[in-house]
Amino acid sequence: MNSGIYIHIPFCESKCGYCDFYSITDLKYQNEFLVSLENEITIYADEYKNGQIFDTIYIGGGTPSILSTEQIVRILNLLNENFKITNDAEITIEINPGTVDQSKLYAIRNAGINRLSIGVQSFQENDLQFLERIHNVNQSLKSVKLAKDIGFENISIDLIYALPGQTLQNWESSLKRAIELNPEHISAYNLTIEKGTPFNDFKNKSRLKTLSESQENDFFNCTDSMLTGAGYKHYEISSFARDEKYISKHNYKYWQHNHYLGFGPSAHSFWNNQRWGNKRSVENYISQLNKNEKPIEFCEFLSAKDLEFEHVFLSLRTYNGLNLKGFKNRFKTEFEIKYKSIISTLLLTNYVEFNEDCFYLTKKGMMLCDEILPAFIKN
Ligand code: SF4
Repeated sequence: MNSGIYIHIPFCESKCGYCDFYSITDLKYQNEFLVSLENEITIYADEYKNGQIFDTIYIGGGTPSILSTEQIVRILNLLNENFKITNDAEITIEINPGTVDQSKLYAIRNAGINRLSIGVQSFQENDLQFLERIHNVNQSLKSVKLAKDIGFENISIDLIYALPGQTLQNWESSLKRAIELNPEHISAYNLTIEKGTPFNDFKNKSRLKTLSESQENDFFNCTDSMLTGAGYKHYEISSFARDEKYISKHNYKYWQHNHYLGFGPSAHSFWNNQRWGNKRSVENYISQLNKNEKPIEFCEFLSAKDLEFEHVFLSLRTYNGLNLKGFKNRFKTEFEIKYKSIISTLLLTNYVEFNEDCFYLTKKGMMLCDEILPAFIKN
């Protein structure tokens, strides 16, 4: 199985109140960050370039499209010079509709980027203002159209639903506009209020009222029925692809425990049952690399039990579910026997099903996966 590379660009023009990804709005470190990133990539290349083949690159953040075209091209060249990357690699960059224009899209396509993940979030101006996004609906429509005109053939758009005060009609109309644009992939996320974010403070001070679980379920069902009705395959809790070939290869590596290397502040890596994460702060990241040391904040070896639980947890996020033979080969035990009592309870509630090869969550189970999956860890 080939491996993946993730690059975290830790800069944004402004912070959105719901976001807990690491990024800063002070752009003064941009150049130093790029020098450090170059250093980090070359340090790892010495260890990982021989015999390792990479077939996905994902440039995320933060707002990668905040970088200049030259800076993005420099990162791609650096990866190509240091790692064996397949000719048909899936190479994605996240773009914020407020930070791209025709010349930048042209240049990044010419540099080899073949997949765009566009942070649209909503096609309603009031939702975008609530989320504190820097872009408007018109800029989203323009970005998607520009990207298509330029020749990108794999475009994903991100949407967020279940916003406080949002109605189902409002969400349906956003989905309708997304479907009209006919992107190859749509990621639709339920808004979660993460600790440490301004939205969490608002929630604690009762200035923000989240939707009830049953309302959230209505949004999930509406998303599923509208997008599958429009021909999209719902292949993971939040992910829809117009065709098998547009399923995100990079994200699948995370769900299948494949190897990946992450570069940049807060980026995570997984290799040979070991997971490590980089320092979050840009300053600490730079200062560590100035000493020619890997900027690692934590590193853990996953025990057999951790790996098994993660395997269950990650596989069940996908609609294919957990492959029973694959589980037996990897963990030398029968899934159906080991988890017999949890499975029987879940079968009674119609949250799970078996087919010939796999055990998977039903759509009803998917909606409640955060409550269902921890039961496996207690086994
Ligand atoms: S643009 Fe994206 S990464 Fe930056 S603050 Fe907003 S949600 Fe977070």
